[in-house]
Amino acid sequence: MNCNRLVWLAFLSFSFSCAPPAPPVPEETADLIVTGGRVYTLSWADPATDGTPSEAAPRGADGWRPDAEAVAIRDGKILFVGTAAEAARYAGDATRTLDVTGATVVPGLIDSHTHVAGLGELESQISLFGVATEEEAVQRVVDAAPNVPEGEWILARGWDDSDWASRYPTWNLLSEKFPRNPVVMQSLHGFAVWGNRKAFEAARIDESTAAPSGGRILKDAGGKLTGILLDRAGRLLTDAIPEPTPEQFRGYVKAGLERMARDGYVAVQEAGVDRSLMTALSSLESEGSLPIRVYAMLSARDGDLCREWIQKGPDRANDRMLITRSVKAYYDGALGSRGARLLEDYSDMPGHKGTAGGEYGFDMELVAEMMRSGFQVGVHAIGDAGNRESLDFLQSVVDASPETRDLRHRIEHAQVVHPDDFARFSALNVIASMEPPHCAEDQRWAEARLGPERAKGAYAWRTLRKSGARLAFNSDLAGSDHDIFYGLHSAITRRTRDQTPPDGWYPEERMTSEEALRGYTIWNAYAAGQEKETGTLEVGKWADITVMDVDPLVLGETAPGRLFEGKIVATIVGGNVAHESK
Ligand SMILES: [Zn+2]
Repeated sequence: MNCNRLVWLAFLSFSFSCAPPAPPVPEETADLIVTGGRVYTLSWADPATDGTPSEAAPRGADGWRPDAEAVAIRDGKILFVGTAAEAARYAGDATRTLDVTGATVVPGLIDSHTHVAGLGELESQISLFGVATEEEAVQRVVDAAPNVPEGEWILARGWDDSDWASRYPTWNLLSEKFPRNPVVMQSLHGFAVWGNRKAFEAARIDESTAAPSGGRILKDAGGKLTGILLDRAGRLLTDAIPEPTPEQFRGYVKAGLERMARDGYVAVQEAGVDRSLMTALSSLESEGSLPIRVYAMLSARDGDLCREWIQKGPDRANDRMLITRSVKAYYDGALGSRGARLLEDYSDMPGHKGTAGGEYGFDMELVAEMMRSGFQVGVHAIGDAGNRESLDFLQSVVDASPETRDLRHRIEHAQVVHPDDFARFSALNVIASMEPPHCAEDQRWAEARLGPERAKGAYAWRTLRKSGARLAFNSDLAGSDHDIFYGLHSAITRRTRDQTPPDGWYPEERMTSEEALRGYTIWNAYAAGQEKETGTLEVGKWADITVMDVDPLVLGETAPGRLFEGKIVATIVGGNVAHESK
């Protein structure tokens, strides 16, 4: 009990007969008070399907304004949300006050589709971002890896392959500095791989090695290797990198989750957890070192693991940092590589419709059994045929076992949908889990694959919302940048980072800034069955909070290009400050 409250209680007990009506004394003191912020609780109703904010939304004549200033937290949950003055009354001797002075406070960010080990692996490599010369690149590796045991692989990434395309480095200096370790240095855009002699030896690449189609092995005038592999030839080297040990892999998973915490995320929905990933996640959870929450979607490609979970049954309560009650299934391929299954031929490849279903490894029996055992399923479907057939599949299971309809099944990506199929999402209670960044990035070639008519049903967030479907937003990291400001910008503008096209690609499908923010918070909480615990800032919910130095609702509406100036100030997960910018 704190002194202020004792004074208050004493005051009340001696003077109740003549005291003016006093504000009620809080029953409990807070562990943490976040104050001085522009707080958007998102506790008001969803906007209409055309994006119009609800009557209850905090808006004035000039647009958005925050609906609170402070949040008080106790035992990992929200004790109070409201004015700074009222929140201060929850302060006790042991309370920490985090004054965020004018920063914006929103419900904790959630990414609904991630691959965190891939992100962590990138994080764990030596960074070559921004190096200007070959010498500088090699020196950076020398500095970062001074005492690596003989034979161990050294991995780096980020030298600029477009900038250096007319003056590729060679392996000479790299081989001289690293005579006993294979070194592989991947480029910024992924089109070139640079290795030393030791790496080429380990990968058994020599002058006689044939380049795969779509790739080149660079050689000098004398026909000798230079240490550079281009495009698809890069895999000759990267495929030779040994698999990480379980301990290394666990380190990647942790590094990926820590990166997400730094970038404002309180939770990820991990799309495709196989045994090695489950082992890593479980051990991190049991030792209390998961920095953020993880909602695990089991990989349907790991049949043994799935069958174990069918025996065990899904986690029903949301009472842990790691929750498992979903399965990720894979129905078709990707659009860029023309693997996505289309109803009609690819516009830029007559006679080709992509691959799907059984030929893509979709185990219908296993997934149906998971559904009947109470698991949510998230089906990867990209093409319009992939989406239709995935909906047909979900429909068939739901028809036979109607209780499975309420498990909030999802289609992951839902990238190209035939006009006849939009309404089936809401009819089947299926969530469209989508990547705003993909729209920004794929627009360069998506129309070539699809033609203008089909492109209207691509990344069609507004059409889906208007059809009654629920959306969930994500980055599909490490494939796309998970930066929230990039994600919000993509959803709000449908433009690339350099603001093309000026009006956005098929701009009628844009989201409002409120919809974009909901897409990374409460809508994702719903997609994981956690909307009662997180996704908005309300008393009794988990204290999952993100603080950023720009106002995404105001900027998203008035100057979305400036969202890129945004920085994460703090990430709070269940009342713990998981990240705080210095
Ligand atoms: Zn994915």
